[in-house]
Amino acid sequence: MIVGVPKEIKNNEYRVGLTPPSVRELTSRRHRVLVQKNAGLDIGLPDEQYVAAGATIVDTAQEIFGKADMIVKVKEPQPGECAMLNQGQILYTYLHLAPDPEQTAALVRSGAVCIAYETITGAGGGLPLLAPMSEVAGRMAIQAGAAHLEKSKGGMGLLLGGVPGVAAGHIVIIGAGVVGTNALQMAVGTGARVTVLDKNMDRLRHLDLIFGNRISTQYSNAHAIEEAVLSADLVIGGVLLPGAAAPKLVTRAMIARMKQGAVVVDVAIDQGGCFETSRATTHADPTFILDGVVHYCVANMPGAVARTSTFALNNATIGHAVALAEKGWQQAMRDDPHLRNGLNVCQGKLTYQAVAEALDYAY
Ligand code: NAD
Repeated sequence: MIVGVPKEIKNNEYRVGLTPPSVRELTSRRHRVLVQKNAGLDIGLPDEQYVAAGATIVDTAQEIFGKADMIVKVKEPQPGECAMLNQGQILYTYLHLAPDPEQTAALVRSGAVCIAYETITGAGGGLPLLAPMSEVAGRMAIQAGAAHLEKSKGGMGLLLGGVPGVAAGHIVIIGAGVVGTNALQMAVGTGARVTVLDKNMDRLRHLDLIFGNRISTQYSNAHAIEEAVLSADLVIGGVLLPGAAAPKLVTRAMIARMKQGAVVVDVAIDQGGCFETSRATTHADPTFILDGVVHYCVANMPGAVARTSTFALNNATIGHAVALAEKGWQQAMRDDPHLRNGLNVCQGKLTYQAVAEALDYAY
């Protein structure tokens, strides 16, 4: 099979569909990989590394879309890319079609076989191709929060771990899923006092077993959230109700009573946010201050650490990429129902029920 990796063209997107080690997984199985010139240059993956892994460097995206049997990307195809897709060509990338009728219509028109990372399921449950980005965002949340507690960034001027003779800060994490657990690991490392809240008692039991008395676990309800938030220096929001908008667990009234110069990091902002006062921000202008509380609400946090995110994503995507290249999409999906769950659009038809329902499309 010929596999193509175009350079990402979405604004501020530096990730790349395949790393050189992933290219090697394909070329060592006698597949041909075409990589667009400078596709990974911005994250320290120059063309020479791709050539050493067996790839062929080509100048333009047109050549890649024109020749490849499978396109491997990171972000959803932009309109110009949708127009270059061909009948029967495999597109393997994040799609997020439910809120995007234009892209959906373009992919249906293209006749391509479009596989969305975010709907591929895992043998152990969950969404394994989404998890790496939650891991990155969860870990980054503490880093971002710590930085914005500094005076120059609008925070109260607090060092989370304290120093000998000065008490450590208090980090509160709401939601103990992938984001919350990864935030928790970093939070414990800072030396701060850490409280984690979730409605899922199994998650809290699990974390209690691992971290023991280095953390405090709390069943999540309005009372516990209010009590925790009012004593917090840094609050991380990482809740998810699958398929629904995030619940507004921290109200405006609670924010108004928080410590002046405290920081909230709303990782769940991509689902609308779990703080009533949140609105999406960008890496270029990541925070705003409301009622004296610094709000960090960047919707694509992993984009800031594009190199780490690219490698983490490749770890999750390469297995299916190899299966698709080795067997073709039909056989690969017959063999693996979890990969089949990734099929969103197939040769002119929408094939994912939740997207069809969200967009009122024939399914
Ligand atoms: P997850 O499903 O692993 O975890 C969500 C947790 O929230 C679960 O443990 C669930 O029990 C808990 N929860 C649900 N309702 C709750 C409540 N009322 N109180 C406390 N906890 C509650 O999800 P995840 O992978 O950790 O993702 C969390 C959010 O972060 C999602 O919205 C995801 O899209 C988002 N995310 C954002 C970015 C970004 O860049 N901003 C990056 C990755 C993920």
